[in-house]
Amino acid sequence: MNIIFDLDGTLIDSRCRLYRLFQKLVPESNLSHDSYWSLKRRKISNETILIREFGYDEAAIVRFVADWMGLIESTEYLVLDTNIPGIHESLGRLRIDANLHVCTARQQRKAVVDQLDRLGLGRFFSNVMVTEQIRGKEEMIGALPDLSSTDWIIGDTGKDIQVGQALGIKTCAVLTGFLSEESLMPYSPDLILPSVADFRL
Ligand SMILES: [Mg+2]
Repeated sequence: MNIIFDLDGTLIDSRCRLYRLFQKLVPESNLSHDSYWSLKRRKISNETILIREFGYDEAAIVRFVADWMGLIESTEYLVLDTNIPGIHESLGRLRIDANLHVCTARQQRKAVVDQLDRLGLGRFFSNVMVTEQIRGKEEMIGALPDLSSTDWIIGDTGKDIQVGQALGIKTCAVLTGFLSEESLMPYSPDLILPSVADFRL
């Protein structure tokens, strides 16, 4: 049995990191943490927020995206991430019956491995898959030699659910990340949970 976990918004809470970076790159923004995330959780992208709220043109958005990608995985920002409450107990229990894997679309593998170790999470996983924006999650998970229809993928976005459905495995959405329950429901995951810490086999 395999369980594949997304990283940001699933195993760890990255909301503070993303909000702080948005505020740094858009100094004119007076959005609070909660108002920023209430837009994002309704699937309103940074680009749309920048156009609608701050009148950004195409060139300014291109600059924003380049700066965002350059800084979002820097040590300065990654230290803002925290463990989802109860995650150590939950992973300790699940790994008795399953092989646990991480699969993330982050850009830099080393930063992922270092962060998992810093947060005391690395020891739970037999495999850390990082797409580095070169490969797809579907391709990487699909290459697991013993993947079966009773395995699970757990993530906080519609993309994670679509990956699981394409691979014919079970899908669980969690509400600790980037999307609200209303935004996740249209993807029809097998399960929607408040947090990955609530997941039971
Ligand atoms: Mg995520």
